[in-house]
Amino acid sequence: MKDKLYRFMRSRYGNDQLSSMLTWGGLIFMLLDCFLKIGIFYFIGFVLFVYGYIRIFSKQYDKRVAQNRWYMEHTAGIRNVFKRRKKQKEAGKDYKVFVCNKCQQMIRVPRGKGRIEIRCPKCGNKFIRKS
Ligand SMILES: [Zn+2]
Repeated sequence: MKDKLYRFMRSRYGNDQLSSMLTWGGLIFMLLDCFLKIGIFYFIGFVLFVYGYIRIFSKQYDKRVAQNRWYMEHTAGIRNVFKRRKKQKEAGKDYKVFVCNKCQQMIRVPRGKGRIEIRCPKCGNKFIRKS
């Protein structure tokens, strides 16, 4: 049985970022329709889900690679926004961000240092804040 599955998948393309997005997106759409009950959402979700699996079991390797590359290139901006937000959230534990009241420059200072004088690196404005 395992051997059969292995032989079946050997020449197939397999999963990639685009297929993951299609199958998960499809599931989310179908789940959403359970609440909204419009029907069209279920249909869209089902089509996305099935297309995701068609890609996974596809034998046209080059075409699938090209599609995934296109997807990765065109969604890089959106994916970076999430990555940056996550990074900012993690940094928020160790740093506090202040805004210079003269030039609106954002200044990051380490947390837990008590009352400190902050000097804006852009305009040189000085102010005292609790870090
Ligand atoms: Zn400033």
